[in-house]
Amino acid sequence: MSKIIAINAGSSSLKFQLFEMPSEEVLTAGLVERIGLDKGIFTILVNGEKVKEIIDIPDHAVAVKMLLNKLTHFGIVESLNEIEGIGHRIVHGGEIFNNSVLITDETIQKIEELSDLAPLHNPANVVGVKAFKEVLPNVKAVAVFDTAFHQTMPERSFLYSLPYEYYEKYGIRKYGFHGTSHKYVSERAAELLGRPIEQLRLISCHLGNGASIAAIEGGKSIDTSMGFTPLAGVAMGTRSGNIDPALIPFIMEKTGQSEIEVLDILNKKSGVLGISGLSSDLRDIEQAAEEGNDRAETALEVFSSRIHKYIGSYAAQMSGVDAIIFTAGIGENSDIIRSRVLCGLEFMGVYWDPTLNQVRGEERCISYPHSPVKVIIIPTNEEVMIARDVVQIAVPVHH
Ligand code: ADP
Repeated sequence: MSKIIAINAGSSSLKFQLFEMPSEEVLTAGLVERIGLDKGIFTILVNGEKVKEIIDIPDHAVAVKMLLNKLTHFGIVESLNEIEGIGHRIVHGGEIFNNSVLITDETIQKIEELSDLAPLHNPANVVGVKAFKEVLPNVKAVAVFDTAFHQTMPERSFLYSLPYEYYEKYGIRKYGFHGTSHKYVSERAAELLGRPIEQLRLISCHLGNGASIAAIEGGKSIDTSMGFTPLAGVAMGTRSGNIDPALIPFIMEKTGQSEIEVLDILNKKSGVLGISGLSSDLRDIEQAAEEGNDRAETALEVFSSRIHKYIGSYAAQMSGVDAIIFTAGIGENSDIIRSRVLCGLEFMGVYWDPTLNQVRGEERCISYPHSPVKVIIIPTNEEVMIARDVVQIAVPVHH
């Protein structure tokens, strides 16, 4: 048996989950927030209870040391030697990484070189990698990329209809994100359906604060809604999703804002928040719509109709679909969004049961037994995918 820790480092935060492998038992999980700011927050699960501490955490290396101290302090591990592998979530792997890899100095350098494509995320991810390297220099680490799963997309899907040299010179293409989640739910769907994934055409809807849809044929991503950045595709909590690109100079001219400011509006003030004027949180929007707020109702309509259209488009691309999957905060919990997204898809063989749809956060098939297309809710689990890759790549598991 071996213990594997999955890490997701942001610019001022670090999420962690410790697994016993190969059983995949979660030993603990937690979150370090406000790293580098005053009053850092350290949260860790101890026997299922959240333990919280407010303390200044000047940098990621200190956060890692704290985390490791707490693991022994609370008796979650007896000795740090028990930790046999570390998995780091890295946002952007560009065209270099189509799979998870062992982290070496060369890997770190390549991830840093890709910062051009993900200036907010990759540098923060690397800080997390280096912090662990400093504190646990002899423990093998693996990088798991958000983009890797989508590297199987064919050129017709990933290429923008722009001058071809932009792709060659600047790497301008669709990369797609949420890959680890789409991969997890598609593999899980194949298990639940009891069919080899090679035979399946799946449409996976990852609907959280960020949202993306993926067309997965034979276990491989062949298209996805996010693009060069996670701003593209469906409308999201605060992100616009696809818009007419000519709007950007038009908005700049009308409002006198700079391109950075307009981009900020598209990322942080648009989507469900922008349309409703109320909130980016779907729960607030559902409640307001229920109480008769028209713009909240419109936001729900825009949000679900974009997803609905992607399903039609991806079914067309795969000449059919065997199952539609819902995952992440909204996909797992919102029966209202699921029912709106699925409404009217009977023409393509999607027959679902409104009673079965009344469920939150549970793995469940909600289509009728006779439905040619299955509809499945699958809570995502990116962390366990990270831990599995660490075991596969870096750690021989002792049975
Ligand atoms: P992230 O992309 O940050 O990981 P999550 O996957 O946690 O986001 O999803 C967050 C979204 O899920 C929020 O919009 C939230 O409103 C929505 N959500 C969570 N629970 C429910 C619920 N019971 N009903 C509707 N929406 C929900």
